Amino acid sequence: MGPTRAYIDHRNLIHNLTLIQKAVAPATVMGVVKAEAYGHGSIEAARTLLANGVNYLGVAFPEEGIKLRKAGIDVPILVFGAHLPHFFPQFLDYKLDITLTDVEQLEPLRALCRKYGLRPRVQIKIDTGMGRVGFLFDRQQDLIFKIIEEPAWQVVGVYSHLSSADEEDTTFTLQQIKEFSRIKSVIQQKYPELNALFHLANSAAIMRFKESYFDMVRPGVMLYGNPPSPAFNLQWPLKEVMAFKSKLTLIKKLDAHQPVSYNRRYYTPRPTYIGLVPAGYADGYNRKFTNRGQVLIRGKRYPVVGTVCMDQFLVDLGPRLNGVKVGDEVVLFGKQENAHIKIIEISEKLETIPYEVTCWVSGRVPRIHLK
Ligand SMILES: *Cc1c(COP(=O)(O)O)cnc(C)c1O
Repeated sequence: MGPTRAYIDHRNLIHNLTLIQKAVAPATVMGVVKAEAYGHGSIEAARTLLANGVNYLGVAFPEEGIKLRKAGIDVPILVFGAHLPHFFPQFLDYKLDITLTDVEQLEPLRALCRKYGLRPRVQIKIDTGMGRVGFLFDRQQDLIFKIIEEPAWQVVGVYSHLSSADEEDTTFTLQQIKEFSRIKSVIQQKYPELNALFHLANSAAIMRFKESYFDMVRPGVMLYGNPPSPAFNLQWPLKEVMAFKSKLTLIKKLDAHQPVSYNRRYYTPRPTYIGLVPAGYADGYNRKFTNRGQVLIRGKRYPVVGTVCMDQFLVDLGPRLNGVKVGDEVVLFGKQENAHIKIIEISEKLETIPYEVTCWVSGRVPRIHLK
């Protein structure tokens, strides 16, 4: 195994989960583990969540749910999003909760239920302002009632998604919460016996809107210790779960005014030591860090110099090494001694959100799970 690794601290995952559970009780927590648990490893993250009181998982694609099933995970798994009817047999085979979001899905699913003699679990998605997946309640109310009454399947949930819960202005989110609350009342009045979970809150809503909790909440990014955006006013003591580290594998001395890496985007300003880190954009160290990134070595920040390559990048270690040597740990993000390069810092620098930073860390990078 090479020196470039992502360290996944499950103690911090449990810490973040516990904060959520305490705040939202009696609402329960669906662990969102789509996209390999935002890069952390879906099976391992799911196992830790399940061992600590989570009893529902959320993923984006059926194959993600199937992967969890094949690992022996047997709790309910909701697959978000809209999927071609072509995939329905997989949902049935692996007992995944199907999101119903369109009238076109109903007949193919009904036919399949007859053919298989199965009564799958479904959840109804309602669009309360995201403008993405979901029925429009007022326009499609009768259709929704038909789905609830359909004997071929079992409606186990009704949910919606917030588009703007991380924004400073709360108007739109409060409107979405109110709308979902109204929909819940309409459905429950008509079907008092319906045993379905109503759920709406993502991480931003969990941290800001108690009225968004309903029966269950769906945290993703905050489980992994990050706020939804660099601008978010984070009040919760979350702990980052992922750290991204490598080691110096080469140090060489260059004269002044020497070019470094592809296209000579950096020239040594003085005689200096250049260190090589065997991680590049194919590992998830973004090429936009060319002449902009920083790393930690022996608790000190050093600048990334020259173009970030596919498999390696370079660091200017300065004219004196001060003990820095080949084999030293290099932190791309995470803690070292008293220094910390936060994931939020990375996302701010690259004008993106923390979600993307941990998702970048590619399949080539081994995950080391610290329990
Ligand atoms: C990804 C996702 C979540 C989790 O969102 P976070 O902002 O990461 O908490 C919740 N619900 C749905 C439908 C999602 O797709």
